[in-house]
Amino acid sequence: MKKKKLIRVFSTVCLFFLLSTILAFSPPAPHDTIVKITLLQINDVYEITPVSGGKEGGLARLATLRKQLAAQNPNTFMILAGDLFSPSALGTAKVDGARLDGKQMVEVLNAAGLNYCTFGNHEFDLKEQPFRQRLSESRFTWFSGNAFDRNQKPFPNVKENVIFTVTNASNQTARIGMIGVTMTKNKPDYVTYLDPLEAAKKQAQALRGQVDILIAVTHLPLEDDVKLAQTVAGIDLILGGHEHENVQVWRGANFTPIFKADANARSAYIHQLTYDVETRRLQIDSQLQPITDKIPEDPETGQVVQRWVDLAFGAFKTMGFEPGQLVVNSPVTLDGRESTVRNYPGKLTDLIAEGFLNAAPGAELAICNGGSIRIDDELPPGAISEYDIIRILPFGGNVVSVEMRGRLLKQVLDQGRANKGTGGFLQTARVSWSEEKGDWLINGKPLDQRRNYKAAINDFLITGNEQGMDFLNRKNPDLRVINENVMEVRRALMAQMQKEFGQKK
Ligand SMILES: [Zn+2]
Repeated sequence: MKKKKLIRVFSTVCLFFLLSTILAFSPPAPHDTIVKITLLQINDVYEITPVSGGKEGGLARLATLRKQLAAQNPNTFMILAGDLFSPSALGTAKVDGARLDGKQMVEVLNAAGLNYCTFGNHEFDLKEQPFRQRLSESRFTWFSGNAFDRNQKPFPNVKENVIFTVTNASNQTARIGMIGVTMTKNKPDYVTYLDPLEAAKKQAQALRGQVDILIAVTHLPLEDDVKLAQTVAGIDLILGGHEHENVQVWRGANFTPIFKADANARSAYIHQLTYDVETRRLQIDSQLQPITDKIPEDPETGQVVQRWVDLAFGAFKTMGFEPGQLVVNSPVTLDGRESTVRNYPGKLTDLIAEGFLNAAPGAELAICNGGSIRIDDELPPGAISEYDIIRILPFGGNVVSVEMRGRLLKQVLDQGRANKGTGGFLQTARVSWSEEKGDWLINGKPLDQRRNYKAAINDFLITGNEQGMDFLNRKNPDLRVINENVMEVRRALMAQMQKEFGQKK
């Protein structure tokens, strides 16, 4: 009996081998040396819902794209080149007594199937405790070769680099290495940085010989990505972020490709890597894929998005806002990008400053710090909702009516000018700089340092916490507060938009 059973098992095993041999020898070729890898790249993602009035972006749509790509090639990986924890309007909502601070983003990206991520400068907007909490909530793999904790050790759950292996149907493998570096401009006391280029060089050397394909995932200004391509040998592909506009350039002796997608997943890059394990040849085909309302939402991810939107909108409602409410139909593009609002006035900043001015009776001028505008995005012509207003000025606060001595006003405006390029750059109404006179003009007249001016200003600016403006505080004898709370800053902006663009219907 025992013997017979054994024989039957043996013959079954034989049949199995015979069958699997036949199967293995049927197409595809017995010895397929080609390994295909699909990378889905996004960068600078602040919103979980679609942007541009619902037309572009949306992480539930991105999740659908990821599933479609994975159905074509199981070796599909989604990579984010930094900036996800902050800033976002939803992140400022207080739920159960704590700011969301990117919690909504991590959960949505977990659901959408993000695999790998490196730090952007905005990750370090968070205080240390929520920052560490977000890392622990991430189901994707963090890696960084140049951003470490205060003791120069990697943060928990963060690797210095990544190596993973992909396999094709013929069991041929390719080893992929990834290094990650971040620009060093945002530095709270809990982080230490190494120089990004030095760190990239060190990590690339550490992976040399261990990987077949080397990818740098970076969050750097483009000129630094170019330096990386020119100075660090052996990098096959640079997936970058920070620019917010899509970029596709080839630089360095080996024409290393550098790619960046549009912010807020308005587009994603799809990179098809074809690696021949025999010839060791790598071919990269990259395609910029717009994420639009033509892509259906993935229901699972969509549910997670909706849950966080409901929670955050509930919090905004308790603050007296109706996030879904239309404010105006804007006839023009409103540019709220940091590169604009921290350097120049524009239509959006004029609306804010004029809104302050008109809110405060008798004000001769208005001042607002560029850093209070956090949307870092362009709002195209069309519907502007109360949620968009919260996106523009997420910190809120009050317009304060003050009287300030001319000499203090000059000191403030001079410092604002010196702060160009940072959040301390000032946006103003009825203030201009005369190159010819080398002085400030208030309503077209030279600033008189001896007289008092009535100004509308946001409450943050008179705390003394703005860069180089510790003197601008309530104890300064040249400053007198007339009205602490003329109007909430976002209400002032909404009123101004309706005044200029017409009441909503
Ligand atoms: Zn950035």
